[in-house]
Amino acid sequence: MDIGHQGLARYPHLFIGGEWVAPEDGGMMDSVDPSTGRPWATVAWGGKRDIDRAVAAARAALDGPWGRMPGHERAALLYRLADLYQARAAELAVLESRDSGRALRESRADLGAHHNWYRWFASLADKIWGRTVPMDDSVHVFTSRLPVGVVGAITPWNAPMLTTAWKLGPALATGCTVVLKPAELTPVTALELAKMIEQAGFPPGVVNVVPGYGAGGAGEYLTAHPDVDKIAFTGEGNTAKAILRTGAETLKRFSFELGGKAPHIIFADADIDQALNAATGSAWAVCGQSCALGSRVLVERPVYDRVVEAFAARAAKVRVGMPLDEATHMGPQASAEQLAKTLSYVGYGKDEGAELITGGNRLTEGAFGDGYFVQPTVFAGVTNQMRIAREEIFGPVAALIPFDGEDEAVAIANDTTYGLTAGLWSQDVGRAHRVAARIRAGIVWVNTYRYIRWTTPYGGFKASGWGRENGVEALDSYLETRTTVVSTTGRFPDAYAN
Ligand code: NAD
Repeated sequence: MDIGHQGLARYPHLFIGGEWVAPEDGGMMDSVDPSTGRPWATVAWGGKRDIDRAVAAARAALDGPWGRMPGHERAALLYRLADLYQARAAELAVLESRDSGRALRESRADLGAHHNWYRWFASLADKIWGRTVPMDDSVHVFTSRLPVGVVGAITPWNAPMLTTAWKLGPALATGCTVVLKPAELTPVTALELAKMIEQAGFPPGVVNVVPGYGAGGAGEYLTAHPDVDKIAFTGEGNTAKAILRTGAETLKRFSFELGGKAPHIIFADADIDQALNAATGSAWAVCGQSCALGSRVLVERPVYDRVVEAFAARAAKVRVGMPLDEATHMGPQASAEQLAKTLSYVGYGKDEGAELITGGNRLTEGAFGDGYFVQPTVFAGVTNQMRIAREEIFGPVAALIPFDGEDEAVAIANDTTYGLTAGLWSQDVGRAHRVAARIRAGIVWVNTYRYIRWTTPYGGFKASGWGRENGVEALDSYLETRTTVVSTTGRFPDAYAN
């Protein structure tokens, strides 16, 4: 990391075709430290010509040695990347915390695990194979699985390096090439990753990193580009719709990881203390800025008051503070916009008659100064029709909804446009299976929460997305299937013989 004359970390180059280049028609943008509201880094951003260059480099790499490289050699490069990543994870965690405001203890745990994703996808790179399709003995039919081509990877600010690993891993395992456009709020770690790509020895152009803006910027150019075969996107649903519209012209492939409004269901027969550990932890982790969090806490009526009380008590124990402070549980929101959004939802909650139990305010005193800090917040008496129960807030706001019995729990859980994650707590094994089987979500956690690994497919039903990341399923959306039919006789009937 280069420190410039104003004390800002400087990242003046894009990574294109294996080289560090100045933007051709982009410029420099500031990355703001959300704990101070002031820039801490200045970073190159790419324009249309830069995206053109990056896509051309990615295409050339696909047509070059990378395109012919056997799977075990791609695997070796991915293993090398995993080693480099693991060695630098602690340092990357600090950079991600500075960029996003996430508490260092969380970033460290998160980034400390990412090497597993690269290793997992490395282990799959030489197992990309098709099938033979038995027919009659006049033909030999087989399928082959081929890389979809040039992938535009567009990532969000809340988990920049995790969402990158989820795209880069399967893209490289399958032999695709990538142009990565990180979120404009958190571009720094993607450029650090580019250094590791270079060091690992990937051929030039296999991975290109071009920070930039979304609508009207690098993200939109990438989506519109006729030579990009697929967009792998994590972010907001409305952005996905815009991407679909732009990408429709060139009929690209898409995979989308979008938002969530997860039901976290606590039955009265649950181990309530364990359920509370999970439900409170997942209400305020990442300052509420994760798609997987259980932002709708559904509580069976006999234990409702007890759970409400415990939520308030636990909120009081959350140490809000500077992201790099080891003691901090919860840092600031990632941007002024996100803070304003959260505070506006606190207002909607009150206006619609929910009971604000604790929190709901911005913190500005002392060290909090101009940072984007907000209190952990709890609303009780929430109905599933209120905006705080229907819309993704992306702030540390728990909405506690009472219910009676399994049918009502399932009805409320599924009464949402989203379907990404869900959790349920019950010591009755039959009930756990019955309820889990009725929930329309990509992942259901039973007596646990946020168990997400490289092996566990992750993605949304309904408006939460298209396709799956992680697991072997992740490979599917980076592959095309070709069927080859070979005649064993070489004879073909003349259709016009009689
Ligand atoms: P966002 O949609 O605003 O931005 C995401 C990315 O898209 C950024 O890189 C941005 O520059 C780019 N972008 C914006 N407009 C674009 C356009 N018109 N064309 C092309 N690219 C464009 O999302 P965000 O605010 O960065 O992230 C928060 C959202 O991400 C939340 O909704 C959250 O739930 C979701 N998310 C989902 C998952 C998941 O796995 N399902 C994980 C993390 C975040």
